[in-house]
Amino acid sequence: MKTLWDNAGADAAIAHGRARGVGDDLALRTYSARLLGADPRLVLHGGGNTSVKTTATDLFGEEIEVLCVKGSGWDLATIEPAGHPAVRLAPLLRLRGLPALADEAMVNAQRQNLMDSAAPNPSVETLLHAFIPEKFIDHTHAVALLALANQPDAETLIGQLYGGRVACVPYVMPGFDLARRAAEIYDAHPGVEGLVLIHHGVFSFGATARQSYERMIDLVTVAETWLESRRAAAPLANSARGSSCAPVADVLPVLRGVLRAGAVVGEPTRWVLDHRADADVMQLVSDARLADWAGRGVATPDHVIRTKRHPLVLPAPTGDLVDWRAEAARALEYYVADYNAYFERQNARAGGGKRKLDPLPRVVVAPRLGLVGVGRNAGEAAIAADIAQSWAVTLLAAEAAGRFAPLGEADTFDMEYWSLELAKLGKAAERRLERHVVVITGGGGAIGAATARAFAAEGAQVAVLDANADAAAASARAAGAGALAVTCDVTDPAAVDAAFAKVCERFGGVDIVVSNAGSATTGMMARLTDAEFRASFDVNFFAHQSVAQAAVRILKAQGTGGALLFNVSKQALNPGENFGAYGAAKAALLALMRQYALEHGADGVRVNALNPDRIRSGLLTPEMIASRAASRGMDGETYMAGNLLRREVTAEDVAQAFVFAALMRGTTGGVITVDGGNVAAMVR
Ligand SMILES: [Zn+2]
Repeated sequence: MKTLWDNAGADAAIAHGRARGVGDDLALRTYSARLLGADPRLVLHGGGNTSVKTTATDLFGEEIEVLCVKGSGWDLATIEPAGHPAVRLAPLLRLRGLPALADEAMVNAQRQNLMDSAAPNPSVETLLHAFIPEKFIDHTHAVALLALANQPDAETLIGQLYGGRVACVPYVMPGFDLARRAAEIYDAHPGVEGLVLIHHGVFSFGATARQSYERMIDLVTVAETWLESRRAAAPLANSARGSSCAPVADVLPVLRGVLRAGAVVGEPTRWVLDHRADADVMQLVSDARLADWAGRGVATPDHVIRTKRHPLVLPAPTGDLVDWRAEAARALEYYVADYNAYFERQNARAGGGKRKLDPLPRVVVAPRLGLVGVGRNAGEAAIAADIAQSWAVTLLAAEAAGRFAPLGEADTFDMEYWSLELAKLGKAAERRLERHVVVITGGGGAIGAATARAFAAEGAQVAVLDANADAAAASARAAGAGALAVTCDVTDPAAVDAAFAKVCERFGGVDIVVSNAGSATTGMMARLTDAEFRASFDVNFFAHQSVAQAAVRILKAQGTGGALLFNVSKQALNPGENFGAYGAAKAALLALMRQYALEHGADGVRVNALNPDRIRSGLLTPEMIASRAASRGMDGETYMAGNLLRREVTAEDVAQAFVFAALMRGTTGGVITVDGGNVAAMVR
């Protein structure tokens, strides 16, 4: 591992800080914390913490000693000076003399001594940073160190590898006790550059930001070099052979369905998935010891809140997924029973009173397939997958060098159910379409783009399909982080299948489809060419059939119901002159909608249509508005507001109706009018 320290970068951080009234110590602290955060081999997703001891001036002009320590909710990769709130040091140091200190009292004491009462909570490891009298302190959960610190004979090994450069701290849960224990060990080992926390991670210190950071890099490099030499001496065999994995796009929807089946009570519980299959992951899952390894535990305790203690191990999804589904469901049953027993056992040991978390896995592993992160949304699934990948790397390195022997069940439980860790998960209520994946065709147009934004705002994972790649990408960007853009001409059934496969590979499946792509052909029926008429049916009818077929295949594989929503337009019910090619296809589409409602109600698939009218879009251009308004002797605004509500109906109104249609649990085969009121087009 190489140092990323760069004097020009450090100077720039100082200059940037001075311009904003940030002291040089804190500016450099922020700079090197970001260097640590930039490397996933050191820290992941809010893991690790950093501090500097410096001075601050209070309201009376007095200079006081403070500890600037990472605040919770900040990630080292993107941390700012405000991410290291200043806490008065003297009162923190006084705490060391207490015989004991409860977690809540510790958090309270830390908050009371913040210089800025609005600052985030200082890290749960604040007291450790305070009690060790070094200016800069860096703490990571470096993969290489964890492969070492999770060896059964870790202390001996670390003694041999580092000599007196570091001291070892036996495992203690973070908080007051760990802070005191670590400080005692530091005091007993003068001159150490760092501390290795068994089963947990590593601290380095220094008089300068650079010294502390580069000691961290150096300590990790020693571990890496040793692990590499051990791995070279005894490479892990890759035992992959036999039949290949079923397509991931087919496997993940079945897995989603299996996870749903494992839900205990209440509403259907859906999950968003994140599949990984890099070389390390495939090495892990192809090993005959996979089940044994999966039972060992997490590489560092705070990962338990993201991944649970064990991944769910499934058989290889080869050949017939019908059999695989049954086997996977059985494996999940065992997993849930196992988790419940673990909870009962450990809750009793810990004195009872904990509220059980849901017993479902957050990581799934299977030979041939790889690893799958499981979350309420794509962000959570990615975090679980990232941490599980890092676990795989740690475990493989540890096993090549000796044995991966992480923290035991009781200590892991204490971390999983620690109130200060649970607080990190947040208590925000789920949005209405969290856990749902929505596909929107014609997603690059005005209605499609508004619909993508509306579903994203409700928490859904959005996939935007459009024949125009740039339009799809722009809509996905506008819908927000994580939306997927797929270039797809919906009149090509193979392209539709490929697009849905992409969505399944990315999010694990599909729950809601807004089949919206359309194109208006104008002309009197008697003069329309056969080719024009057929082309209109291709895009306004047959493309919807391809989309519905692809969607139903996935919805049935999941077995969790879903919603199919079609844009049939006002033309399906109320034909307009010169719009026969469009209207006839839309009328056929209305029949198609009813047919799907009829045939898939028993699958829990709700199928409904929207008939919007007079929406500014690619189908109703400013020129068309102007000419139609002129032919009626009115201006464009009046024409657009020519409905019962006397207001123009917008793409956002249509988007809102699609969201409502997706949420209506008791409606199928229905038509929802979005036209501001038009008696001639009313459903009858
Ligand atoms: Zn830690």
